[in-house]
Amino acid sequence: VLLCPVRDCHMALVREVRRAFCPRGHSFDVARSGYLNLLQPQERRSRQPGDTTSAIAGRRQLHDSGVTQPLLHAIAEITAASPRDTVLDAGCGEGFYLGSLTRQTGCEAHGVDISIPAVDAAARRYPGCEWIVANADRFMPYADRSFSVVLSITARMNAGEFRRVLRDEGRLLVALPAPEDLVELRGAGRDRVARTVETFAHDFTLVEQRRVTTAANLDAAAVEGVLHSIYRPRRLERVEAMRVTFGLDLLLFRPTARMPN
Ligand SMILES: [Zn+2]
Repeated sequence: VLLCPVRDCHMALVREVRRAFCPRGHSFDVARSGYLNLLQPQERRSRQPGDTTSAIAGRRQLHDSGVTQPLLHAIAEITAASPRDTVLDAGCGEGFYLGSLTRQTGCEAHGVDISIPAVDAAARRYPGCEWIVANADRFMPYADRSFSVVLSITARMNAGEFRRVLRDEGRLLVALPAPEDLVELRGAGRDRVARTVETFAHDFTLVEQRRVTTAANLDAAAVEGVLHSIYRPRRLERVEAMRVTFGLDLLLFRPTARMPN
């Protein structure tokens, strides 16, 4: 069930073909490509960093080239989704991981992201999923216990909201960039695992942890696509073909305790 995103409202939305509305009269449009836009006027005005179409195109080009397949495979394996699962991808971007996962497993899939062009691209390519544009930083527009699986793949995290929309027996997969992710382009990153486990400690217990890395020889255009996807299109004066490493730390959590009614 979708909830009205207006602060102090949060009533259930009734979905029609072209719009959704709550009993208080707040109304939201369904776009031509099929996603529901829950952004409110003040949120539409402020441009978000996730917005750039070149970053989205760069990321999609990378996924389409196949180099991220090992990452997808590891995410699918550790998540182990089945047709019985209802999956939310919080910060779904252009939808590659969720769209691929639902095609492979037949799970019911919901994706939410704040970027209109990203969700538009997701809805066009993966029409079998339910796509929402919303600012989910403070409030995820879904009823309590809506999902059996929540995914957060290199996205912003909200432990309390993840817990609220997850069923008591559900699971949460958090994917973080591993320290060696894109090391050739931006140097070694931080190891974020311990800090993240700590962030989730109040609501979740870590049950499995895995680091997946892969490397691929990219041509100059692909390297440029990666640089766009991390918002550093001008970092290199002359982009050359090179071998690039991709890595994720995958953390699988279970809710620690039942959520109070
Ligand atoms: Zn409302």
